[in-house]
Amino acid sequence: MWKGLVHEYREFLPVTDETPIVSLNEGNTPLIPLLHLPKRFGIEAKWYVKYEGLNPTGSFKDRGMAMAITKAKEKGAKIVMCASTGNTSAAAAAYATRAGMACCVIIPEGKIALGKLAQAMMHGATVLQIKGNFDDALNTVIEITKKYPVELVNSINPYRIEGQKTGAFEIIDALGDAPDFHSIPVGNAGNITAYWKGYTEFFDLKRATKRPKMMGFQAAGSAPIVLGHPVKNPETIATAIRIGNPASWKQAEAARDESGGLIESVTDEEITEAQQLLAGLEGVFCEPASAASIAGIIKKCSSMSFGKDKVIVSVLTGNGLKDPNRAIEISPKPIGVDNNLTSILKHLESHF
Ligand SMILES: *Cc1c(COP(=O)(O)O)cnc(C)c1O
Repeated sequence: MWKGLVHEYREFLPVTDETPIVSLNEGNTPLIPLLHLPKRFGIEAKWYVKYEGLNPTGSFKDRGMAMAITKAKEKGAKIVMCASTGNTSAAAAAYATRAGMACCVIIPEGKIALGKLAQAMMHGATVLQIKGNFDDALNTVIEITKKYPVELVNSINPYRIEGQKTGAFEIIDALGDAPDFHSIPVGNAGNITAYWKGYTEFFDLKRATKRPKMMGFQAAGSAPIVLGHPVKNPETIATAIRIGNPASWKQAEAARDESGGLIESVTDEEITEAQQLLAGLEGVFCEPASAASIAGIIKKCSSMSFGKDKVIVSVLTGNGLKDPNRAIEISPKPIGVDNNLTSILKHLESHF
């Protein structure tokens, strides 16, 4: 039985036999081949999505949180804290509960997707909303955790990156080698940093013969790395990447440059179209931020060569159910009908 990523990849993680592993059996998420999207866009490469929305709390944040809470527990911490655009708070609340610790999350008022807020509340976290954005919230959390006996579990906590790098291990283990291209949404830039670290470690250990080009995508309204300066009031419907001053900015640039990759932006329209295509053509439902990694490949496919012998992996960072409001907003509404054959069959005839 799969026992969670800290257990499974322990030889590559900062744990000892005495470390009290906190786990919800996260990781081991499927790598799903796309069947229809590549054809639609003339992409001959094998194109997979790593569906991180199937982690216990519905996002990749569980990878880093399993590791960070494990280390906090080892240290004897009683309370953890994070700033969050939503998924970090859901994961922190769940794993802190699992470990018997208290959890406090600071979120930007009104900008949290409904599913994520519900999770933090159900897991019993102290949920504090501020009139400010993620960047403001993170500054406050850093100040508090410096001065008081509270463990910071944002991705500037190095154990978060350690846990998250296991996503790259799983991809290499599943494919037998690293892919040629790895596309990923970029918000606070912890995940692109972590994947690059994971790919590099397995490459150095000769478990892979190559490392992928890292292709990071920010939302156009919150694209500080693309613009080369912080964005004061970041805006995008992809709330998970609505971040104006990424904590792992330098590391993300290093991942881009060392891999010969790129970090570019995609518009909210492109993100929405990608989310709809993925759900409507492939049967895979991801949240808006995750669709940036699909929108990015679609955007680049005319100028870059994704040939037959190449492999692309796009990370779907979070589950579509996280943000039901947005999904309902962009979809056709249910059709009211009378409950009889004539009125119902009218809507099926075109498929006969
Ligand atoms: C956190 C998050 C991101 C951004 O990841 P970073 O490590 O902050 O760059 C993207 N998508 C989803 C669904 C997230 O929860």
